[in-house]
Amino acid sequence: MKFKQDYFDQLSGFYSQVTPQGLPRPQWLAWSEDAAALIGLKQPDDELLKGLAGNQAIPGASYYAQVYSGHQFGGYSPQLGDGRSIILGEAKGPQGYWDVALKGAGMTPYSRHGDGRAVMRSAVREFLVSEALHHLNIPTTRALAVIGSDLPVWRETQETAAITVRLARSHIRFGHFEFFCHSEQGSKDKLKRLIDFTLSQHYPELSLDQAGYIAWFNRVVADTAKLIAHWQAVGFAHGVMNTDNMSILGDSFDFGPFAFLDTFEEGFICNHSDPDGRYAFGQQPGVGLWNLQRLAQALVPVIASDDLIAALNTYQHHLVQAYLVLMRDKLGIKEPASAEQDEADLQLIGGFTQLMEANRLDHTNTWRRFTQLDPNSQHSSLRDDFIDLAGFDTWYQAYRERLGLVSDVASWQAARAQVNPKYVLRNYLAQEAIIACEEGNTQPLAELHRLLTRPFDEQPDKEAYAKRPPEWGQGLIMSCSS
Ligand code: AMP
Ligand code: MG
Ligand code: MG
Repeated sequence: MKFKQDYFDQLSGFYSQVTPQGLPRPQWLAWSEDAAALIGLKQPDDELLKGLAGNQAIPGASYYAQVYSGHQFGGYSPQLGDGRSIILGEAKGPQGYWDVALKGAGMTPYSRHGDGRAVMRSAVREFLVSEALHHLNIPTTRALAVIGSDLPVWRETQETAAITVRLARSHIRFGHFEFFCHSEQGSKDKLKRLIDFTLSQHYPELSLDQAGYIAWFNRVVADTAKLIAHWQAVGFAHGVMNTDNMSILGDSFDFGPFAFLDTFEEGFICNHSDPDGRYAFGQQPGVGLWNLQRLAQALVPVIASDDLIAALNTYQHHLVQAYLVLMRDKLGIKEPASAEQDEADLQLIGGFTQLMEANRLDHTNTWRRFTQLDPNSQHSSLRDDFIDLAGFDTWYQAYRERLGLVSDVASWQAARAQVNPKYVLRNYLAQEAIIACEEGNTQPLAELHRLLTRPFDEQPDKEAYAKRPPEWGQGLIMSCSS
């Protein structure tokens, strides 16, 4: 790995140097070839294993934990920071630089009451979901590898420690700006330095002045809105949308009790620590805006509030437009010539999701059905899935009217297969791979990972992975204790 150290060199005071605690008897549990290529790596080897386990220094790496704060479940936590993630620097790849972080590499000054460790099950889940979202064409941080060990760590029960090697275009979160706005260690000058750094690294086309700052915040609003549109379209619940888990670049970030929907349910809650459903699936669009408002408040010392408000006011538009593009594609309806159609299309889409919910249908499989639908036929192959036949018939008629005659049904179906995935990371699939790892067998994990790199392809020997969960795997609710 070839590193540059821009964050480390240019932002002293924005992190603490740390030494990884290392993992005894480390072993590779998972490895992503695609992610490795991003930073010019080919094969996992023993030297790399020692380095990424934190057992031996990697040449050119700095070891540091970033400081930030954030709103957690609506309340402000003035001091967070990387409590168990250690960043090595920005590694060079053929298409740019990626932060490399060892998540679970031991205590840092920000560990508070934690042990600085990640348990194997959460490391594996982060690995799988990062790679799965990427291959679903959703912006996300990536995962290079999972390294396991026999080091015992205590959660509700005794588990073993592991490290996820995370790659991110940036680790800067909304919470970084909140920290340097609200804390005693912050100041307008530091906030400005952080903004300038973010712009020079990631928005080189923008100028470091008011006009550039305003354009930047508008981009953050738009990118966040687009990310959440993706989540709603694919049926992904993040589970812990605290502002310290929001990437400034609009990437999916910091995974804990996330879930892909099985049965479609707006109110679906995947986080055991969220009984009120603050981060329920259907709440995510609103939370995205709420989080952007917290970010805007932190930027007030540097950017005029009128400009921040104007940018926030574009959120809904970006979200709806991005969502419409994705959902029209899933349904196979064309972009309309006029904006007047938007409201009617939202009704059509909402009508379908309401029917899915009322009929307790599986989100992924129901959408996948559009790849076999003959939309020119009055008799829909979808119909049999619905209990409420009258409701479905009414909807289907409206859909066919909106769709018009499809001239080439086969290519229409093929196009639906490119946007309605067959395979998603259902919680029970992750769970099965984790149980096998606990028994020393990493093969199911490798197989699941491979499957998820081609989520839109029919994989005839892998039909079982597209099934709804068995009884034990329904409504699995994950805890935050990772
Ligand atoms: P999360 O809920 O994963 O976003 O974590 C919230 C905060 O708690 C972050 O500052 C984490 O670094 C910290 N944290 C989570 N788990 C641990 C742990 N096991 N040890 C130390 N800090 C942790
Ligand atoms: Mg976090
Ligand atoms: Mg975390």
